[in-house]
Amino acid sequence: MATVYLLHFARPISDAHTTQHYLGSTADLEKRLHQHQTGQSQARLPTVAHDLGIEMILARTWRGGHDLERRLKNRHEGKRLCPICNPRALARAGAQEK
Ligand SMILES: [Zn+2]
Repeated sequence: MATVYLLHFARPISDAHTTQHYLGSTADLEKRLHQHQTGQSQARLPTVAHDLGIEMILARTWRGGHDLERRLKNRHEGKRLCPICNPRALARAGAQEK
């Protein structure tokens, strides 16, 4: 079973890219996080964050693969799903907790 994960960036990437969240999925979360944190994940947002020295925090995980990742991405509500930005996020229904 893969893991869908939400990264929270300590500050916005830039004035043009104010999102502070990245949603991804992986079969090996530990390895994937290491790639993000060392700028080797090939994912644009975490790589830019790494290059700018912006801290990224694993905010939340779900059990699920690409389908769940796509479903959550389509909701465009990273901020509402993020327990760091929204303490009530974990109480929200709609996604299965790990
Ligand atoms: Zn957040």
